[in-house]
Amino acid sequence: MDSSKVKIQVTNLKKNFGKLEVLKDISISICEGEVVVLLGPSGSGKSTFLRCVNQLETVTAGKIIVDGMDVTDKHTDINKVRENIGMVFQHFNLFPHMTVLKNITLAPVELKKLTQEQAEKKGMELLARVGLADKAGTYPNQLSGGQKQRVAIARALAMSPDIMLFDEPTSALDPEMVGEVLEVMRELARDGMTMAVVTHEIGFAREVANRIVFMDGGYIVEQGTPEEILKHPKEARTIDFLNKVL
Ligand code: ADP
Ligand code: MG
Repeated sequence: MDSSKVKIQVTNLKKNFGKLEVLKDISISICEGEVVVLLGPSGSGKSTFLRCVNQLETVTAGKIIVDGMDVTDKHTDINKVRENIGMVFQHFNLFPHMTVLKNITLAPVELKKLTQEQAEKKGMELLARVGLADKAGTYPNQLSGGQKQRVAIARALAMSPDIMLFDEPTSALDPEMVGEVLEVMRELARDGMTMAVVTHEIGFAREVANRIVFMDGGYIVEQGTPEEILKHPKEARTIDFLNKVL
């Protein structure tokens, strides 16, 4: 595998909601196996950026190429692209009336990626991977927040995505559960998953990110290695933000 293969290429992305210009001019490439952490104040456009990548939002202008496919082109089969992009949100959005295993097998079976039997086998492997093999038959409301989020990650992985997008996956969790979710993400990174992660967990960013991207006001203000951004930020807005969160 070519480690410098570009998985996500965003060029001059703009996104408006009515008159509100949320993303003003974003250009960024993310390579295979890279872990990019997006930092920035609330309202800076981080979620909107992630949502544009898998077309949960239509872009106002610019181009987004995922795995060589132009997701901003209306002729592209966006569902095919989405099958390769797992997304994990702050709120886990598990189906409450389905068991943990059913939550995980639903999409691969519905989308005919796997048979029920294959999906269950894979689902059990994924549950073991996130440390929840004993929870297959339970319902989401019987799980802690950290366990729910680990199920949500397993559910996303069930489609065998080669890109994972995380939008503040630990922000809704009690502090004692943050670590177990970050550990699952750390292992995914170690296994070579291409990841874009919005988080305020600076420790995770420092240890796991290949690159930190600091966003403010709909722009990328600066980006670099964790060392560069966390220890030697250049821009006043980055310094100001880090002073508040560190
Ligand atoms: P962040 O994730 O960095 O906190 P968001 O991308 O969620 O920022 O939001 C950026 C801005 O876009 C905010 O001002 C927010 O209110 C606005 N916004 C986000 N989604 C919508 C929407 N669907 N309609 C209108 N405004 C939105
Ligand atoms: Mg957000």
